[in-house]
Amino acid sequence: MDNEFDVIVIGGGPAGLTAGIYLSRAKIKTIILNEGVFGGQVSLTHEVANYPGIENISGYQLSRTMKKQAESFGCTVKSNIKVTGFELDGEIKKVFVNETEIYYAKSIILATGGKSRTIGVPGEEKFKGMGISYCATCDGDFFQDKNIIVVGGGNSALEEAVSLTKYASTVTVVHQFDYFQAFESAIGEAKSNSKISFIMESEIQEFHGEQSLKGVTIKNMRTGELTEKEIDGAFILIGYVPSTEKIKGMIELNDRNEIITDDSLLTSTPGVFAAGDSREKRYRQITTAVSDGTIAALGAIEFIEKKKETVLV
Ligand SMILES: Cc1cc2nc3c(=O)[nH]c(=O)nc-3n(C[C@H](O)[C@H](O)[C@H](O)COP(=O)(O)OP(=O)(O)OC[C@H]3O[C@@H](n4cnc5c(N)ncnc54)[C@H](O)[C@@H]3O)c2cc1C
Repeated sequence: MDNEFDVIVIGGGPAGLTAGIYLSRAKIKTIILNEGVFGGQVSLTHEVANYPGIENISGYQLSRTMKKQAESFGCTVKSNIKVTGFELDGEIKKVFVNETEIYYAKSIILATGGKSRTIGVPGEEKFKGMGISYCATCDGDFFQDKNIIVVGGGNSALEEAVSLTKYASTVTVVHQFDYFQAFESAIGEAKSNSKISFIMESEIQEFHGEQSLKGVTIKNMRTGELTEKEIDGAFILIGYVPSTEKIKGMIELNDRNEIITDDSLLTSTPGVFAAGDSREKRYRQITTAVSDGTIAALGAIEFIEKKKETVLV
């Protein structure tokens, strides 16, 4: 049957596509169901950084190659669909798509990724990738000898502000409160770095520029005063939102709504694995996503082999 699979992978980013490659190559009947265009977050970047063995490649090209590789082993990839619901309990899992279709499988891999939190001010959308970044590890070295700001006051904002001083001439941290929500060690390291300065109790009002980002308007939340600042780049590091709203209540999530897994990436529900940025983890990169995709696929294969006698409905 066209709607019966061994494994359904939810999400067609690097984690899901890698799982698709491993599963299909092992002759496990697999479908990847992806909302939107395949490729996930990485398809937004014009130049992939830190992916071993490949240089000068866009996110779109890398994703397209991963998709072709999965399809060459017989994996079905469906994009631009809408997943409307799940039934994850029981031997046979169900995924409801586009209100009318139901897909069945013995195992599910959740690889739904997520999104960086945005500020939502004028200019942010326009200068994404043109001076505004949400990933210091990915884009830091594009700002060699530049003047940049970091928006945020948590651990990752302060840690990344310090790491960005390897490249930038100056790093100004703009934070909305008069205190940081970070460990003392991270605060101490940032404060003792001579390249870092702080603008506290302040929020970004607008990003400006022509082709690329050139400046920012900052509002002091206590006095209401507006300041214009010339900058070459802005890193917005105010948190991450995993795409897990549709499985909430079905599997265990942490207080940030990230999927909790064990070492084999099994979730709290038997036969349901999670891979990539949607799960609880410290570092979110393509390499960590493809590693997760591999582990989850191998876990799903082992799970299915143990249940070989299961007959689909
Ligand atoms: C602008 C940008 C640039 C980056 N550059 C780099 C870089 O250069 N190097 C690097 O290592 N990392 C980079 N990263 C990080 C990297 O892209 C992510 O860590 C990686 O894409 C995570 O892969 P993933 O498969 O877990 O999730 P994602 O890439 O988020 O993919 C998840 C997919 O699942 C789909 N989906 C979500 N919910 C559902 C649902 N309910 N049903 C079906 N499908 C669903 C989404 O539409 C998406 O296609 C960058 C991130 C961004 C935002």
